[in-house]
Amino acid sequence: MAQLPHDPDEPRRPAFDGPPPTLEEELAAAQAGAEPTPSIETVNEELRDGLNRCPKCGSTDIQLRASTGQLVCLFCRHEWQEERVEEEFGLGHGIEELEGTVIASGAADIRADVADVVTFKCGGCGAEVSVDTTHAMNARCHWCRHTLNVNEQIPNGAVPDAVLPFKLTKEEAITRIRDFAGRRRLFALGRFKREFVPENVFGVYLPYLVIDAHAESQYWGQGEVQTRRWTEKQGDNNVTYYAADVYQLERRVAYVVDDLTMEGSSERATIAKDNTNNIINTILPFDTKNAVQWNSSYLVGFNSEKRDLNVEALKPKLEDQLLSIGRSQVQGSLQKFNRGVRWEQEKIDVGGSRWVAMYLPVWLYSYRQRSNGLLHYIAVNARTGETMGSIPVSHPKLLLASLTVGTVLEGVAAALLVASA
Ligand SMILES: [Zn+2]
Ligand SMILES: [Zn+2]
Repeated sequence: MAQLPHDPDEPRRPAFDGPPPTLEEELAAAQAGAEPTPSIETVNEELRDGLNRCPKCGSTDIQLRASTGQLVCLFCRHEWQEERVEEEFGLGHGIEELEGTVIASGAADIRADVADVVTFKCGGCGAEVSVDTTHAMNARCHWCRHTLNVNEQIPNGAVPDAVLPFKLTKEEAITRIRDFAGRRRLFALGRFKREFVPENVFGVYLPYLVIDAHAESQYWGQGEVQTRRWTEKQGDNNVTYYAADVYQLERRVAYVVDDLTMEGSSERATIAKDNTNNIINTILPFDTKNAVQWNSSYLVGFNSEKRDLNVEALKPKLEDQLLSIGRSQVQGSLQKFNRGVRWEQEKIDVGGSRWVAMYLPVWLYSYRQRSNGLLHYIAVNARTGETMGSIPVSHPKLLLASLTVGTVLEGVAAALLVASA
């Protein structure tokens, strides 16, 4: 095949930038770059003894007060909070200087041989109390009512580096969920409406990895510039023709990402069959800059789901996301190709990345549709109030609605929600 003309406006690249590397070359480069991974130590030293005590009175009856975002002592009402990890671990700067893969201790690889159930000796009375860290990070001693907390970073994925505390109260979440369902009421399944009890909402901390990185990506492809357009009569039809110049394109862009959020649970990351679409991703973003150092008292009264994905497993997904960020970055330089651009090859070079494990707060209302077993969710971002969900829709009602102008758009929106199931 003949070589296409190079776009005259394109800066010529030196030859070594040329064709994308072969698989062997990439493997060799990856091996050369493999280095011991430095780590950021994020254990909360002040909680070493397993008790989270009120700094004023020493009580262990502590929980989050969502309306203020602070921990509150239920005994003396003193309020305080843990340090923001952004400052505490220097996550706010130095992204450009990152080299290789930097992993915070709470994001370390999960060890298969570590039990999820942690047993404590109660500091109050000496009884043995167990916490199943799959769903909870605290337990109350059934003898003396002391609250016991998981403070150390057991390598089972249950203890992250940081927590973004709930900010929306349960009452606020109920209002959002009621509004969300109310706007779609017209099309909702009758049974759903009868069984709708938003008070059953529950708060859950979901595991995420929050990533800083700097990268450079390159793209190779073709762009077309239209030179002529004309119409010819063929029998009864008018046929339109185009003429275009085709150019060989190459773009390279370097960029920095700050707090890219990726799911740390494989159950959420891959869309399960009996589960409606990945709704949680539609309520992003979270203000991850306000995440604070681990203190399991933030989880009292909430559920939590432990992380089951390691950094290594998420790297290909990070590269995909970075490539798409890079593509949108070069978009501005492609205006003249008014007949479009087709990328044929791309290459990413992640210069450095930093991974921090974090719990993010979500209010969830779930409903299982009995007719088809589908699990529907309405999820509320417990920081911003952003709400998204799917509700079981009555199809005859949708059809009827599409016949009446004015409600059509709402009907389409509801239908799209179900179609993504
Ligand atoms: Zn107190
Ligand atoms: Zn006890």
